[in-house]
Amino acid sequence: MIGIMCAMREELEPILEKVEIKNVIEYAKNNYYMAQFGKLDLVLAYSKIGKVNASTTASILIEKFKAQKILFSGVAGAIEKDLKIGDLIIATKTTQHDVDLTVFGYEPGFIPESKIFFECDKHLNDLAKTVAKKLGIKLKEGIIASGDQFIHNKEKKEWIAKTFKASAIEMEGGAVGCVTWTLDVPFFMLRAISDTAQEGAGVDFDEFLEKSSEVSAKFLIEMLRQMENEK
Ligand code: SAH
Repeated sequence: MIGIMCAMREELEPILEKVEIKNVIEYAKNNYYMAQFGKLDLVLAYSKIGKVNASTTASILIEKFKAQKILFSGVAGAIEKDLKIGDLIIATKTTQHDVDLTVFGYEPGFIPESKIFFECDKHLNDLAKTVAKKLGIKLKEGIIASGDQFIHNKEKKEWIAKTFKASAIEMEGGAVGCVTWTLDVPFFMLRAISDTAQEGAGVDFDEFLEKSSEVSAKFLIEMLRQMENEK
């Protein structure tokens, strides 16, 4: 069983259009779509925005629906200069930029008995790179930082860039990274850029949410096609 999750309805819808939905299960104030993509069994959901919602959905996908890997598709704000709106990035690792226990001498992002960075699955990232190469699509790879804030401020963005060496910013990946690390489940994080996380980002986000969600969804579907071929 493959778990596919997004944060927002707009991010999930273009994926749902391309799979064969068998059943919709209402659970924990959310809908879980049981579906088929060729030979692949899927369970899909959007969590709603933010780290707590994303953790809840990721845990449910794994514990209740027995997802053996989690693939995330969605949009993000760009940090790296050569990431333009509509470009794709996969995470090498994710982190929580809003975790701050620095007064106790810990590094930003660190929680005792946990860690700052959560590694994404190398095999799934290699698969994504193979697909990108085959289709001639530019695919960046880098650290993705998450926090419960929409970043639209150059100073804050630069602090996150410098502190975590992050390439993109969003509101869920660090949480899903923590859940999948805790439960030992491979995690893949794909995002298409919707804005540049500085002044004006809110306007860009509203304008490009749908288009960038589509870009990410389309690539995810190509990955499923590749996974099916390899099955
Ligand atoms: N306009 C939306 C809220 C969007 S919040 C509404 O009214 O419902 C932004 C979502 O996109 C989050 O899920 C986050 O993961 C991602 N995102 C894109 N750009 C971002 C940015 N600059 N900062 C933080 N999250 C961003």
